[in-house]
Amino acid sequence: MTGGLEGYDAVAEANAQKSVLAIHWSRICERLKVEVGEVEYRTWLRQITVGPVDEDEITLYLPTRFLRDWVRGQYGDRLGTLWNAEVPAIRRVELQVARPDAAPAEPVGEDAPTPDIPVAHARPPALAAAPAPVEEPRQAEVRSDLAAPLDPRFTFDTFVVGKPNEFAYACARRVAERPSSPGFNPLFLYGGVGLGKTHLMHAIGAELLREGRVSVAYMSAEKFMYRFIAAIRSQSTMEFKEQLRSVDVLMIDDLQFLIGKDNTQEEFFHTFNALVDAGRQIVVSADKSPSDLSGLEDRLRTRLGCGMVADIHATTFELRISILEAKATASGVMVPAKVLEFLAHKITSNVRELEGALNRLIAHANLFGRPVTLEATQDVLHDILKAHDRRVTIEEIQRKVAEHWNIRLTDMSSARRARAVARPRQVAMYLAKQLTSRSLPEIGRKFGNRDHTTVMHAVSRVTELMEQDPAFAEDVELLRRMLES
Ligand code: ADP
Ligand code: MG
Repeated sequence: MTGGLEGYDAVAEANAQKSVLAIHWSRICERLKVEVGEVEYRTWLRQITVGPVDEDEITLYLPTRFLRDWVRGQYGDRLGTLWNAEVPAIRRVELQVARPDAAPAEPVGEDAPTPDIPVAHARPPALAAAPAPVEEPRQAEVRSDLAAPLDPRFTFDTFVVGKPNEFAYACARRVAERPSSPGFNPLFLYGGVGLGKTHLMHAIGAELLREGRVSVAYMSAEKFMYRFIAAIRSQSTMEFKEQLRSVDVLMIDDLQFLIGKDNTQEEFFHTFNALVDAGRQIVVSADKSPSDLSGLEDRLRTRLGCGMVADIHATTFELRISILEAKATASGVMVPAKVLEFLAHKITSNVRELEGALNRLIAHANLFGRPVTLEATQDVLHDILKAHDRRVTIEEIQRKVAEHWNIRLTDMSSARRARAVARPRQVAMYLAKQLTSRSLPEIGRKFGNRDHTTVMHAVSRVTELMEQDPAFAEDVELLRRMLES
């Protein structure tokens, strides 16, 4: 594992705070709509955008003074009460007119910056959609005006290494130390969404630039295409080619984007050859291995596979915990191990989502000064968690329950009525009802074509038993947790 994540910064936190407030606000809006009616809501309240929180006061913006005064007079108190009910730490609402020179009021929302689109690295406005955000200069450390800036958060130091990514990490480090070594050119990184490809590429770039010896150009394949098309339009393709061919290290992210874009692919192929022949380094990423990127020209695929091909595997539970620990430590907010484990169990898809969930928790804790608990986590992240609820199948439930009580799987649908078999079967029906969205008749059918009243009976019997017998209740809870994780 590498060191702490010094890279954790205000940008991620501001975004997460934004999304925390957005969730609260959308709940408040739902209530307001019901209370005042759709028409009234649309006329007056929909124009509100959420601003920053300062201690116990939240600022809301309206586009004109007239609207501000009207809303203040009609709904001021109600808004205060609703915010307070939603977030007890908020005690006052301040209504302000967004300055006319403000950027178009951007409603607070879920949009995390997509690290794949380089321009998105320009700093987002401070916490929530405050009016007239001051654009900070971009962190453009890359020499060539051709390329996209590197995200300063994505360095080797902030990359947490574990089994699934250690090979890719080692290759990336190696290229950063000694670019253009035979066997490592090109370096082809591939893996699923949000597993760290872009992070590693930026880390290579940052490392090389720190040394200050080379010129680096990083861009997404999409950007490469747009640049190329623009060059054709402005009849400056020669210049484009020369610029590209003058860099020491060229990194193209998400190459799969070039599938089906034949002319751009052709151009990339020539650039690629010219650079490699001149002893320059190429780093490419894609969502699949070169051989699986069907739709890329064969000769390009062959050349892409000629150097080092490194894949990043899906994260393991251990890696997810390490990443969460590192990020929590860097944030300075105390997040209990129980919460980290819960997140690592629930959000298994990719690191980006995991990070987003943690950032939101941290933002919530900082914003409202409340400790992070399991309950708070479930509340603050309820939308994310819902989307990640694993779909448990009835077959899985039957298998786990049969294993647990050591009975045969076929007994789940057999006619045997011995208690040793019937009880686990009832538990499986109960869990099927709790953990899946299947109807009672559907569940009955999966258990040897039993009637829906049998399932109903099983559900109430198990509920009853759980109340009476704590050991039994613990067994069932344990099974439920195993199935849910
Ligand atoms: P990809 O390009 O593969 O879709 P990214 O490199 O954009 O994924 O990673 C998504 C997010 O997850 C980024 O914020 C990145 O910093 C973070 N991330 C991914 N893998 C790791 C890791 N091993 N350690 C720390 N952060 C990671
Ligand atoms: Mg990426």
